[in-house]
Amino acid sequence: MSELRRDPIGGRWVIVDTDHPNKPEDYEHESHGWRGGTCPFCYGSESLTPPEIEAIRNPHTSPNTPGWQVRVVANKFPALQIEGDLDRRGLGIYDMSNGVGAHEVLIETPYHEKDIPDLLNPEIENIISMLCRRALDLIKDKRFKYIMIFKNYGPAAGASLEHPHTQMIALPMVPKSVMEEIKGAHNYFEFRERCIFCDMLRQEIQDRERVIIENKDFLSFCPFVSRFPFEVWIIPKKHSGYFCHMPAEEIPALAMILKETISKIKKVFANPAYNFIIHTSPINGDGASEGYHWHIEIMPKLTRIAGFEWGSGFYVVPTPPELAAKYLREMSQSSAKVT
Ligand SMILES: [Zn+2]
Ligand SMILES: [Zn+2]
Ligand SMILES: [Zn+2]
Repeated sequence: MSELRRDPIGGRWVIVDTDHPNKPEDYEHESHGWRGGTCPFCYGSESLTPPEIEAIRNPHTSPNTPGWQVRVVANKFPALQIEGDLDRRGLGIYDMSNGVGAHEVLIETPYHEKDIPDLLNPEIENIISMLCRRALDLIKDKRFKYIMIFKNYGPAAGASLEHPHTQMIALPMVPKSVMEEIKGAHNYFEFRERCIFCDMLRQEIQDRERVIIENKDFLSFCPFVSRFPFEVWIIPKKHSGYFCHMPAEEIPALAMILKETISKIKKVFANPAYNFIIHTSPINGDGASEGYHWHIEIMPKLTRIAGFEWGSGFYVVPTPPELAAKYLREMSQSSAKVT
């Protein structure tokens, strides 16, 4: 018999195949090679991108030239445009707004073929601190209510450029999936006067069954109600609603756990496409909740969303999270480089 599990935050049910669980080799995921060619994110191609917004650079190098370690530019084909006033209006029964927002791209490294597991810890720390800096800057714009940070790695995960990069979209409203988590967390907080994420963290640390890595400041684990096989969450141990308010002294621990977690995923599956997103509290006074706790969700792209999921919102998870965590935990980080 399979198992139904209910997410205590969003209320979603999932179906976990506990009877005939998939092993990693049962997934036919698309691994991908490197196409090469002219890349706008490599050294020497700086003029092919919109001008630099911010960068971490070697001394005596000028903007829009080589010599950077992390570089942020506007997206050349933005989903939303920075100019203009927010004009939200009704159209009969429909609500609409003009496409105001910001869409930035953080180029993670000058090296075309280096993903997070191939970088040195201080290089990953640069990425994290730059994401925080950009988020803090975008928050100043009162039109924005949410900053979504995400990464698409590999064509199957939606990456159109193969050079590793993370994107940031500042939105004029709070996205639905975040709102659902916030409402769920808020209800729990009203009822128990505790943060559901803090409670989840405590229980996972106690159970250990779904834990992949734990360090001083962060925990990485496969959630009990995973929606996707080998879904992983990374969560700060200290309660905090905002990713960008992370204390500087916690950044090395996050860099370390992010690198180790993604290395393990890339060892279990040969260079899989994956997405990661950062869920953090809304900004500028819309929908913030004291019971919300920021976290990272990582999803290797192993399955496709099919009719049942689409129609019902039920996800079918072919590998129980307990088993996924075991595979990931037991994978040593050492020979992590898979290309
Ligand atoms: Zn490149
Ligand atoms: Zn919390
Ligand atoms: Zn979330």
